[in-house]
Parts: sequence; C-alpha cells; structure tokens
Amino acid sequence: MVQIKTANVSFNENGAPFSQEFDDIYFDSNQGCSQSVQVFIEANNIPQVWHEHSEDTFVIVETGFGTGLNFLLTLDRFIKFKQQTDSPLKLQFISTEKFPLSKNDLTSALALWPEYAEYSNELLKQYELHEQQQTFLFADSAVTLTILFSDSTKALASIEVPKQGIVDCFYLDGFSPVKNPEMWNKGLFLQLARIAKTNATLATFTVAGIVRRGLEEVGFKVSKLDHDKAEVENSESRAEKSQSLIATYVGLRKGKPLTGFKVREKVESSKHATIIGGGLASACAAFALAKKGIKVTLLCQDEHLAQGASSNAIGAIYPLLHQNKDPISDFYQQGFERSMALYQELLGLGYNFSHGFNGLIEVSYKDALVKRQTVFAQKQAWPENLIQAISAKQVNAISGVEVNHPGLYMPRAGWVCPPELVNAIIQAAIDTGKVKVKNKRTLLAVKALKNDRWLITTQKGQKQEQKQVQNLIICTGADSLKIDALNDMPLSIVRGQVSQMKTNAKINNLKTVLCHKGYLTPENNNVHCIGATFDKDDSDLSSRSIDDSYNIEMLERCLGDIGQWTSEDVKASKARLRCCTPDHLPIVGRIPNIDLHKQYYAHLSKDKNWHYQQVAPLKNGLYVLTGLGARGLCSAPLLADILAAEICNDDYPVDEEMLFNLSPNRFIIRDLIKSKS
Ligand code: SAM
Repeated sequence: MVQIKTANVSFNENGAPFSQEFDDIYFDSNQGCSQSVQVFIEANNIPQVWHEHSEDTFVIVETGFGTGLNFLLTLDRFIKFKQQTDSPLKLQFISTEKFPLSKNDLTSALALWPEYAEYSNELLKQYELHEQQQTFLFADSAVTLTILFSDSTKALASIEVPKQGIVDCFYLDGFSPVKNPEMWNKGLFLQLARIAKTNATLATFTVAGIVRRGLEEVGFKVSKLDHDKAEVENSESRAEKSQSLIATYVGLRKGKPLTGFKVREKVESSKHATIIGGGLASACAAFALAKKGIKVTLLCQDEHLAQGASSNAIGAIYPLLHQNKDPISDFYQQGFERSMALYQELLGLGYNFSHGFNGLIEVSYKDALVKRQTVFAQKQAWPENLIQAISAKQVNAISGVEVNHPGLYMPRAGWVCPPELVNAIIQAAIDTGKVKVKNKRTLLAVKALKNDRWLITTQKGQKQEQKQVQNLIICTGADSLKIDALNDMPLSIVRGQVSQMKTNAKINNLKTVLCHKGYLTPENNNVHCIGATFDKDDSDLSSRSIDDSYNIEMLERCLGDIGQWTSEDVKASKARLRCCTPDHLPIVGRIPNIDLHKQYYAHLSKDKNWHYQQVAPLKNGLYVLTGLGARGLCSAPLLADILAAEICNDDYPVDEEMLFNLSPNRFIIRDLIKSKS
C-alpha cells in the first residue's frame, strides 16, 4: 500500500471544486459541462474519429484526472456511439493525477452531474487510493480507465509503447501554466510525443505560449480554436470569449539515430558573449564569434594570455587516427583540417607565430607498432595526404635524423609555438574591432538570474566585480574543475611535464616531429621539446627533475639511435595540467540541466533504443568549451566554430552524431541508458 497525498479542495456556492493548493478551478462551473465538451471532446473530433478508427482500441491519454468529468463525458459519448453503431471498438482511457481528490470530495464533486450518476457511482464504487495506479472497467469491459497517481511526466514516462506510439488522442488538462508551471515542463511534451501515434490529436484549454511552443518543439502542429466561432447558437456562454488549442502530432517519425540535438532549440539572438579563460580554446572562441559579428569580452585570470596548458614552447599538431574510422578519429581528422586552415589563414593575414608544418612521424619503434603499421597500410582507412606508412629508410630521409624504424607519416602535420599562436589569434580577433581582453580577472562565481542572464563575480586584485551577461562561455581548461557551474561535467586533470632540451649537432637537423611513447620536436630557438609525463589527478605545477629524467629515458628507450641527452641538457621544463574527459573527446556546447535530463529522458533507462527527437533541456546562455586534453591544437578551432554556430543559430560545421559526441549532455544520456543515474 502506498501513501498518496490527496488534494486540498473547497467547494464554491455552485458546489464546484476549487483547488486551494493551486488557487485554480477544476472546471468552469458557470458553463456547466459545455466548456469541457468543447475544449476536449469536440476539439478532438469525438465521436466522429471513432467511426473512422480502423484499430481495435482507441487510446486517450489525459493529464490531470481531477473530478473525472472529462472521462465521464467521454464515456457517455462512447457508450452512445457503441449503441448507435454496434461497433466492436474498445476505449482505453489513461489519466494521470498527482493530487487525487479524496473519495469524499470526489463524491461531492460528481454530485454536480446527476445525468452521469450511473457512471460516477460505478467509478466511486471502485475508487481507492491504495496503489500507485488503478484500473476500472466500464460498459461491459469495453472501456478501461487507468489512473496513474503520480506526476504527469513521470506517469507518462512509465507507459511502455511500441515505436509507432499508442495514443490516438490527448486531453491536456491540469491547472493553468501560470498556477502550475511545474507540470507544464518540456519533459511532459517529450513524453506526449514519445507515446503519440502519427496524427494523434491533442486538445488543451490553455493557449499559453509555453504550451504552444513546447508542443511545437516536440512535433505537434498547433492551432488555436476560437470558441466564439465554434459555439452553437443556443449556448448559454455565448457571450464568453475563449480560445483553446488543438494540435496534431506530425513529429519526426520514431526510429531516427539517437542524438542530443535532434531538434535544436533556438537560442535568443546574441550580440555579446563573455569568455572566461586565456588559452587556445578562449582565443579560438573569441575569433570565431567576432567573425560572426558578436562582441566579445574575454576575461583572463593571468597578467598574460596562454599561461596554462597553452604555455609550452612547442606543441605538436596532428590528428589522432585509429586503424578504422571511428568517432574519435573522425573528429580529429575534421579538427585537424580546420586547425590547419585557421593557422594558414592567420599566417596569410600576417599574424605570425613560430611553426613548422613539415610533417610528423609516428615511429613504429617496437614489433607491436610495426604490426599496427602493416594493418594501417592494408586498411587504407585514410587518405595518403593525411597519413601513410613509410619504411625506416624513408623515415630517416624525411625526418633528417637517424631513426632507423619505419613509421606512419603525416605529411601536413607539424608543430607550433602555442603561446605565440594564442597571441596571434587574439590579435586577429581584436583587430576585428569586436573583442576586448581584460587580464587579471579571476572568476569567483556564476549565478543564474531569472531573466536567462548570468551574474558573474570576478576578482581583480583586491576588488570584486559583478556583471550580468547574456552568453557566458567557460573555456578554463584544467581550472574548469574549480568552477561550480561545471560541477556536473565528468572532468579530470592530468599533469604533464615537458622538458626543453638544448639542441646538438646530431639532432638539430630534425625536420619533423617524431612521436614514440612520447614525442620529440624539431628545434625552435635552439630548443627541442620532449615529453610528456602523464600523471592523473596530480595538480602540482612545479617542475620535477625526476620527470625530466623520465622524458629523457623514454626518448632513449624508444629512439635510442638518435643520440643521448642527460639532465645537464635540460634548458627548462614546465608542468601544466590538461583537462580530460572519460571518453577522450572534448566538450562543447550549452550546459545541460541534469535534473531535467533525468526527467525527460528517463525512458532511456528502460529502452535504450528509444529514439527521442526533442531538444535537450540546456541552460540558456551558459556554454562550455573544455576537456581538450593534450590535443587542443588539433581541436580548438573546430570546437570554436561549433560553439559560434550554436550561439548564432547557424548551421553546425559537423554532423549530428559528432555534435552529440562532443555535447556536454552526452554523459548524462549515456548514464541514463546504462541506468546509472
Ligand atoms: N480533467 C479534470 C476534470 O475533468 O475534472 C480537471 C483537471 S484539474 C483542472 C487539474 C488536475 O491536474 C488536478 O486534479 C490536479 O491535481 C492535477 N495536477 C496538477 N499538477 C499535476 C501534475 N504535475 N501531474 C498530474 N496531475 C496534476
């Protein structure tokens, strides 16, 4: 037995119930039943639809059973229809009710309709509030009524449906959206769409924008019904002007691939964005937005840009490619092309940064890697100008040094100096006239305001500043873990130390980046970078000599023929933190509302193949671009384009599957599918 909370109702002078909790009426008692008949029954074209119905059962779903008036009216019409037509049709009526009337109150309320006493007595005889749901039979079992005693969204989510849906008709009742905003949420609309058959009809008493838009977003075609026009000549309420909504489910058919952005919710048009962060992700985001005409204020916590993971002297740029095309390789292939295009564009515009685009070789320095290289060559999953298998001789010739191992050669890859690159991008962004950079501003807090704006508190020296912003973009790399607004993102940090080594005669001829277990770059300013260590959850920024030794040993173990270095050759070293995600792909987009996700997509934990088509509940104006790991050079420009497209309601530069694989809500959706949440 369960405890079900009953409604707190009073009765007016006409005997009509009134909800004390919601301060709203159950039905318009001035109009008798006529309003319910017009708004729900006639608007759904009942009983005509029954004549044309070709299946055995007609299914109606109602939200808010209340006094059961809508049900009784429907039952009455159905019984008359059966009598007139001798049709074998059955009626299944499912209603939700979070705050049912007590049996006494229901008895009083139904006393208003003596004409339906036969049915209401039947209902009252069986009405109990002992279980979470109750099923009643009427009209010799031709009619089944099931009341689900819980919140509408939850109740509807519990209904098992085949892909093609089961519901023919909806009565969307419930107190008005102003009085009962909780019920009229997107999760509810999503559930309606999930259980609707194609061309299912829906009627509701409210014409509120939130309901209209909510229905449209999930695939209902909605129109207003003007009851002045629809009314019959002798109606008592002719003088009353009223409107209601009717809708038909014409949504995308079920069975499309699962994505988090199937139908993208329009965002408010934007003129301004505030970016938090001073590294490569922030720079690319600022430039991408400025190019679309958005004004940007960039707040950097340090005195200079590029002090975090973008601060290493040299960084390799190359795509992560697996033997087979998979979502990770697809992303990095596309990211690489976009990055190279941006970097070349900047150079073409005269924004300089140290770089060398002479290729990169993944050296097959052990048997397992030679085997991998053979498979790579056989599979030919990627174009040769992206990656190709080369012999040891070719490796030596192309790299300019004695590697003596075969390898996978990426002819267009290379290296850049990340801090110089960040400054070049920011300069290009500033030169658009749209971007302002404010240094020494540390983000302290982000607070949601009611008007879909964000209140940010920043610290500058001793002073705290507060500002309301429309679009807030958090590109804070490893500092993302300190930001409350990102608490729901499964981010982690990995410390990496890179050692800068003095060049020498044996190696100063190196033309390409060499990757082994770590990497070795060509020299820039007489320094080669070797790296990097990989320490999970270690946030120590001081460099350690033991880590330099590790980098040197790793190089020697893998590429011993190149020559030896000792710790004496270390010119400098730097430890920085990478921000990583569990699936090794970065995160870009609007931050999800986790609670609503759990509500909207609850059904995924029962049916992982449930293909939802609806917009994900995301936080308006709050964006993240982080989790780039050690691969920001190859991903930040594409991610910035995705972000700018989202903010400007433009077409995305990637397909929906990739968008989902990068979206901040993918983790919660996957957890729901695994029933982990
Ligand atoms: N259809 C009803 C009838 O024919 O009498 C009238 C419905 S009355 C206007 C609204 C009903 O919605 C109330 O009984 C109320 O308890 C119910 N309700 C409100 N919020 C709800 C929710 N979140 N889930 C389910 N029912 C809810």
